[in-house]
Amino acid sequence: MTTDNQHSIPVFRPLLGEEEIAACRAVLEEGWLGMGSYVGKFERALEELLASPNRHVVAVSTGHAALHLALLMMGVGPGDEVISPSFNNIADLQAVIATGATLVLCDIDDRRLCIDPVKLAEVVSSRTRVVIVTDYGCHLAQHDDLRTLAGNAGFSILHDAAHSFGSTYSGQRVGSFSDVTMFSFDPVKTVTCIDGGALVVQTEQEVEILHAMRLIGMGQPSSVMYEDQRAWTYDVKTLGFRYHLANLHAAVGLAQLQKLETMSSNRRTYCRFLNRNLKELEFLRVPATDFEGVTPFLYYVRVPAHLRESFRHHLAARGIDTGVHWQPGHWFSLFSTARRGELAVTDKVGKEIVTLPLHSVMSETELERIAEAVKTYPMSSDLAANR
Ligand SMILES: *Cc1c(COP(=O)(O)O)cnc(C)c1O
Repeated sequence: MTTDNQHSIPVFRPLLGEEEIAACRAVLEEGWLGMGSYVGKFERALEELLASPNRHVVAVSTGHAALHLALLMMGVGPGDEVISPSFNNIADLQAVIATGATLVLCDIDDRRLCIDPVKLAEVVSSRTRVVIVTDYGCHLAQHDDLRTLAGNAGFSILHDAAHSFGSTYSGQRVGSFSDVTMFSFDPVKTVTCIDGGALVVQTEQEVEILHAMRLIGMGQPSSVMYEDQRAWTYDVKTLGFRYHLANLHAAVGLAQLQKLETMSSNRRTYCRFLNRNLKELEFLRVPATDFEGVTPFLYYVRVPAHLRESFRHHLAARGIDTGVHWQPGHWFSLFSTARRGELAVTDKVGKEIVTLPLHSVMSETELERIAEAVKTYPMSSDLAANR
């Protein structure tokens, strides 16, 4: 079957319009390109969204930069252990390594594909300083259980909420309840700054440390830069990196935030449509959730490992792009020798997972094409043959 007359449906597609173009034009016309007023406005807008008086937002250049700074701010260094699910973005694992700390990998639970609190308890040691808790795709981790465990075992939680920006957990906005929360606004995330990231912290002192660290250690007050000015003299007291967010990117993020409600409800609706249409198919598993309260970042299905490549080819031939999120961390050379607990679920999920397209605006035709392509996969005979 050929689909030459149809565009392929990409896995990700940003929701960009005149608003973002106008925002870029305004920044370029003003001509203040680096850290400036739009960065301050973007941080305030994120704080308003969190609606939590004790939380402060610091914007940075990427999610990876946010993770690196967060770990350093939390005092992580050589001799410490940081636990992460092996089923995670490479950015998290690299950020741990970059601090000189020891990376420890943990398994996920089979339903949410987020770190498994029971297995986490088995790998926690007296050296565990931070545990990275990553929300996956359209699921939130078991944050209540994890907080209890953190209290008992004495570690802090770095919440990777790159997939759950705009979501709510037990009535609380994601970003308003973890020790430190990280967001990514990279090109494929629900809300994009082209590239960008943010940390949510709880004290002015943490804000001050992060402000200096994101500006190669320069101790000039961000309040000055938010007036599109700079202090020419200042002290340098801390290790730092060039990790600040630029005005142009913050302006794009601000325009995107206006669309969050639409993005959120559309994505939920599309996920529910796909779940409704695909849940009866015997050869695959859809996400076990009703998506309530969640702003889904990606929609995935799980197919038996031996069918995955032919399933993905079947979809590609029908103009449906698919992705793999993720290859588990311990499968990569660099992390293959990291200490880890048992990773049985991760190993299984890593071979079964397939990301289907999910955008903030999709047509009915696109959604039906996706559902139809999945449904016509000739799996029954293959399944029987391989059993
Ligand atoms: C995208 C992402 C990151 C990294 O963010 P960047 O902005 O791309 O550096 C980290 N963790 C998760 C779960 C992500 O999806």
